[in-house]
Amino acid sequence: MSDRIDIAIIGSGPAGVSAALNASIRKKTFKIFGSKEISQKLVKAHKVNNYLGFYGKSGLEIRDEFAKHLESMDIDITEDKINNIYSMGDYFALMGTNNNYEAKTVILATGVNFGKPLKGEEEFLGRGVGYCATCDAPLYKDKVVTIISYNKHEESEANFIAQVASKVYYIPMYKEEVAVDSSIEVIKDTPVEIVGEKFVERLVLKDR
Ligand SMILES: Cc1cc2nc3c(=O)[nH]c(=O)nc-3n(C[C@H](O)[C@H](O)[C@H](O)COP(=O)(O)OP(=O)(O)OC[C@H]3O[C@@H](n4cnc5c(N)ncnc54)[C@H](O)[C@@H]3O)c2cc1C
Repeated sequence: MSDRIDIAIIGSGPAGVSAALNASIRKKTFKIFGSKEISQKLVKAHKVNNYLGFYGKSGLEIRDEFAKHLESMDIDITEDKINNIYSMGDYFALMGTNNNYEAKTVILATGVNFGKPLKGEEEFLGRGVGYCATCDAPLYKDKVVTIISYNKHEESEANFIAQVASKVYYIPMYKEEVAVDSSIEVIKDTPVEIVGEKFVERLVLKDR
């Protein structure tokens, strides 16, 4: 068991790394858990243009800048996966795969976990598959986009993409009534597989 620290930051992506910088500046004792690779998600980003100061840079280049920044501030990422956290009253006990830790505060910066991926989804991530309208809209300018949506809130994202794409298909995976722009073609079907060679070419649905 290590000494009790002020802050345990779980996750080494952009959110966790930012938390670590600020913990360091505030002279807190802390650990940041994750991977020295920083974030598998970030490195898959083809180009990140909605982050100030990194215009035209790829996720990989931004990751390297983050790593340099951490190194300059002597911040080391602890490569351990935290599997359980127990509240012990005035502190938290963290159970890692390699070690156990104690911290007065915990920051969860674990990123988002998606459900079971579609066949082809992981393979084509960053090569036609994306999750963020704001980030990816410029990539889909004048292209055909199919949005698989698990949530009615995403209708506004679909409307946003429809302003740049040549054609948008929208597949709602929820039961509520769909209300998207009239230019968007709504398809009630079940996605099965994403196919292509180097980049996405087609989405196979159950019926078409
Ligand atoms: C192809 C692609 C393109 C993208 N393009 C853009 C873009 O242009 N603009 C934009 O703003 N965003 C973009 N994104 C999204 C962006 O990458 C994410 O929003 C961002 O990485 C989220 O940061 P995060 O710190 O919340 O989590 P993540 O980056 O997911 O990092 C979480 C980290 O925590 C670690 N972790 C999780 N659980 C534990 C645990 N229990 N113990 C220890 N470590 C743990 C993970 O291994 C990971 O390293 C893109 C994503 C992808 C995949």
